[in-house]
Amino acid sequence: MTTLITGSTGLVGSALRKFYPNAVCVSSLDADLTNTEQALDLISKYKPTSVIHLASKVGGLFKNINDNVQMFNDNILINSNIVTACFKNNVQKFIGCLSTCVFPAEIEYPIHESMMYNGMPHESNFGYSYAKRMLDVHCKAINKQYNLNYKCIIPTNVYGPYDNFNLKDAHVIPALIHKAYIAKRDGTDFTVAGSGFPLRQFIYSADLAHLIFKLDHHEYDWVSPMIIADQKEYSIFETAHIIAEYFNVWERTGFNTNLPDGQHKKTVDNERLKRYITDFKFTKLKTGLTDTMDWFVENYDNARK
Ligand code: NAP
Ligand code: GDP
Repeated sequence: MTTLITGSTGLVGSALRKFYPNAVCVSSLDADLTNTEQALDLISKYKPTSVIHLASKVGGLFKNINDNVQMFNDNILINSNIVTACFKNNVQKFIGCLSTCVFPAEIEYPIHESMMYNGMPHESNFGYSYAKRMLDVHCKAINKQYNLNYKCIIPTNVYGPYDNFNLKDAHVIPALIHKAYIAKRDGTDFTVAGSGFPLRQFIYSADLAHLIFKLDHHEYDWVSPMIIADQKEYSIFETAHIIAEYFNVWERTGFNTNLPDGQHKKTVDNERLKRYITDFKFTKLKTGLTDTMDWFVENYDNARK
């Protein structure tokens, strides 16, 4: 049994590899998965029995708004190439990673897995969202035609050590941590984008990794796709407040309402997950944020930013 993890150097991959000490852990340095031949060569070389596919072009609201083309193109190629390479090399188990952006912008809450194709995704990230939906389509087609069981998970907004802390391209938590760090260091203002009203269900990377490991070791009978989420929802305001307090910059914190809010909320239901994993305790946002901020401060020079 050999497990291969793509995207193993990223936010989720760095947390997941701790649960798989014997896995083959690869990144874009091993193969550029947008390239069909490199994807095939990679899987042919290691001949894994099982693949956990995390590699992706990932970014926050502003990266998606500014580059829907790259978010669509890179992700459609990465996903199509890896699924094809796995199928051609007789990989038996495959877990691909979607995101709650796949769900329609206009939707009833709470969101269930069955609602994925009920409408257009939010306009801010339709390129990424459609590319992710196609990974689900590709897996379903392979399963139907070749009697395989390739599956997908749908995590909410992830944060933790080894994230991308780029000020422009990152997701909200790493972007705000980096901004608050600078505000403290330079004595400048800490500016949060948008109104602060949007709501998100954040998940700590270590929790997501633990849940992927548990699902992977759960007789593989779980229904795909599977939303991976904590039920608790936080506003951007509350999240920014925790970060600002840590760096002691709350008095200098402001909200720039000229910048977009993106989708107001994407409230998902984790009922399907709880059918298989009944007793999971999610890390509280304040605890996970504190660990992440401690990590960022300690690793500032080498962090991805
Ligand atoms: P990340 O930190 O940006 O890491 C991305 C990983 O993908 C890195 O290991 C990177 O390798 C690799 N990669 C990127 N382009 C590649 C290419 N062309 N060929 C091969 N490898 C490539 O991403 P993440 O946040 O861990 O995301 C992991 C998965 O979770 C993704 O599928 C993402 O869509 C999904 N997800 C993330 C979030 C979130 O909030 N972050 C939320 C929901 C779902 P290098 O290090 O070599 O660049
Ligand atoms: P999403 O969850 O996929 O929409 O992506 P993000 O993680 O980028 O979160 C976007 C939400 O956070 C929006 O409501 C933004 O207005 C808000 N936000 C506040 N400040 C920032 C910031 O500095 N960067 C990002 N990416 N979002 C921010």
